[in-house]
Amino acid sequence: MLNIGERNPVQKILMGPGPSTVSPRVLRALAEPTLGHLDPDFLKIMNEVMEMLRYVFNTKNQLTMPMSGTGSSGMETTFVNILEPGDKVIVAVKGVFGMRMVDMAQRCGAEVIQITAPWGKPVQPDDLRKALATNKGIKVFAVVHAETSTGVLQPLKELSDICSEHDVLFLVDTVTSLGGVPVDIDDNEISLAFSGTQKCLSCPPGLAPITFGEKAYHVLQNRKTKVQSWYLDLTMIARYWGKERVYHHTAPVNMIYALHESLRIIAEEGRENRFARHRKNSEALSAGLEAMGLKLVVDKEYRLPSLTTVYSPESVDEAEVRKQLMQQYHIEIGGGLGDFRGKAWRVGLMGYASTQTNVILFLTALGNILETMGQKVDKRGALDAAVGAFG
Ligand SMILES: *Cc1c(COP(=O)(O)O)cnc(C)c1O
Repeated sequence: MLNIGERNPVQKILMGPGPSTVSPRVLRALAEPTLGHLDPDFLKIMNEVMEMLRYVFNTKNQLTMPMSGTGSSGMETTFVNILEPGDKVIVAVKGVFGMRMVDMAQRCGAEVIQITAPWGKPVQPDDLRKALATNKGIKVFAVVHAETSTGVLQPLKELSDICSEHDVLFLVDTVTSLGGVPVDIDDNEISLAFSGTQKCLSCPPGLAPITFGEKAYHVLQNRKTKVQSWYLDLTMIARYWGKERVYHHTAPVNMIYALHESLRIIAEEGRENRFARHRKNSEALSAGLEAMGLKLVVDKEYRLPSLTTVYSPESVDEAEVRKQLMQQYHIEIGGGLGDFRGKAWRVGLMGYASTQTNVILFLTALGNILETMGQKVDKRGALDAAVGAFG
């Protein structure tokens, strides 16, 4: 007989690139009794989830709902539903997630044109203008709003205006921005977008909110070919989330309770208050890191409130610091990716985990660890700067 012990995972402070610490209220929602996926009580919960998602996305889009799967399933949903073989798409690449979008678009049989920016910088609107001038018949332009691999917040408005001028669909990855930074789907004229539950929504990984505006929906309705993926086909899934309630696949019922609760928490706090909290805590973290003597990767105006990238001192083993943070303080942060591998840390302050306490605890822990490794760090200065920034 197998004798496998219970899990008993220790509570950690998740300050990496995701997943982020989940609110206890959300964890309790997961344990509520599972209902049938067509139970009227559950249908009411689904409708409320859609209503609250529209609030967080700041959109009137009817087709706004969570896909079953993590953020990447949301990404795939947007591409497979909008692209047909031979379509042309421009993708902005300035980190890992832009690269992932290129891969997905190519798998759809699309012709992909890339515009790039160095890691740690946003893409420039002029590069999009140039790409549109030299490539005719572009259907979609895709960009990551909050590039979690670099800590860059991409400004959207100018890119969106260019897309409107050229009648190109504007597709945005809002995985690390939704619930932490305004995404303003309607004001930014975003045609379609996707997100994930495990970053600033503070829900476990497992759902991917998406929103499709009228233009994107029209393109979907007028496809010549079937959507390549059966599981992610919105023409069918929208009939379950809409009035008809036609079974497609069994909804992950308890995950939808969890999302419902996490969205209720956002509605209680108010989205503007929530964005202000994310901004303030990240400013305090940045001020503390700089006062400690460390260098931030991203220029101030493009810093992402939900994720901060900071160079590790050249003479320390950055992975060892992360190991010590975990062992001594139960704090998880991320290491650098791509150009920043072995050179930087990625510190998330997302949703429930974006707190003054976590900022102070992290700065204290990092200062202590660096000091024991023989680094000269201004621990006191770091805390004073952070406290000063809280105001
Ligand atoms: C995390 C992330 C994803 C992928 O989400 P998963 O939940 O890991 O599938 C996509 N885009 C961005 C910007 C992300 O940060």
